[in-house]
Amino acid sequence: MPARNPSASRVFVLALLATGTPALAGNTPTGPSAASGTRAPGAPTPGVVVQGELAPLKVKPVDGPRLSLQPANPKPGDPVLVTVSGASALPSGTVAGRPLRFFAWSDGYAALTSLPVEQVEGSVPVDVTASGRGLPVLLSGVLHVGAPGFRERELKVANKYVSPPKAVKARMEADRKAFAAAFAQPFVAPLFGQNFAWPREATVTAPFGDRRSFNGKLQTQHFGVDLDGATGSPVVAANDGTVVMVRDNYASGNTVLLHHGAGLYTAYFHLSRIDVKDGATVKQGEALGLVGNTGRVTGPHLHWGVKADDRWVDGQTLLKLDFTGAPEAPGVATNAPGLGNP
Ligand SMILES: [Zn+2]
Repeated sequence: MPARNPSASRVFVLALLATGTPALAGNTPTGPSAASGTRAPGAPTPGVVVQGELAPLKVKPVDGPRLSLQPANPKPGDPVLVTVSGASALPSGTVAGRPLRFFAWSDGYAALTSLPVEQVEGSVPVDVTASGRGLPVLLSGVLHVGAPGFRERELKVANKYVSPPKAVKARMEADRKAFAAAFAQPFVAPLFGQNFAWPREATVTAPFGDRRSFNGKLQTQHFGVDLDGATGSPVVAANDGTVVMVRDNYASGNTVLLHHGAGLYTAYFHLSRIDVKDGATVKQGEALGLVGNTGRVTGPHLHWGVKADDRWVDGQTLLKLDFTGAPEAPGVATNAPGLGNP
């Protein structure tokens, strides 16, 4: 890299991280000059990330990689959208140590991940390494995770769903394998270009995360959003994608599963009728089938599931994520390099 004259062009430190930070390890300058301590002028100190040059006195926006997080204050079981703008190459990074899978998105890059339902309240670190006009920059962010507020509920269903007959066990195992195969799609960039929308406009009868006991026995957590609806009411695709499952499962009944790319899936359970074929490409709002009461249900409704980065997440939060590239949108935490300005 060209040597810079420190007196003519001041540099500032965006983030000073302890050496050994995984996100930084591959980008920490090494070599004779770093090891000997006789650095060339302008050469970075190991472990120090140099963002760039400060604009001379007049206030001028500092360009360079910027990190945005949605939602700014997630709860356990929420999807999390990480957006990087102003980067010149695919970033890398982690949320709570879990690697992010970035893809090119809008005029920058994005990655979709999720918080586990067991996530404790508090701060979750986000570390992203991105290249701007030169050296890699470490962008550090924090997700402030609030209380989940999951409810406790008692439900009554037919006993065969709580204590499945022996003959059914093999079927349930086949269902499990079918889901695993459907969720094993190769990672691809988003197959959609707009924000997600409700699969039907209806009252939420059970939100994501309810802790349920069925017939006072089986304890489960509700990994979806239940939407009211009479048998025969239409169900539509929440966004563009590909059908990766059309199947009659024991617990979820007639099921459609859509793959949206970016490690994101939506699931539509208990349908009375399915109107799409496995492998079909669907558009947002396209009919998938009809509400029903197939599988383990207390009555007809649509169970809408969302999976992000291998975890079931709250679909109501997915609907609030802005994928359309508005980093300053309400509810978005932005970590701008300019934060380090004097
Ligand atoms: Zn449900």
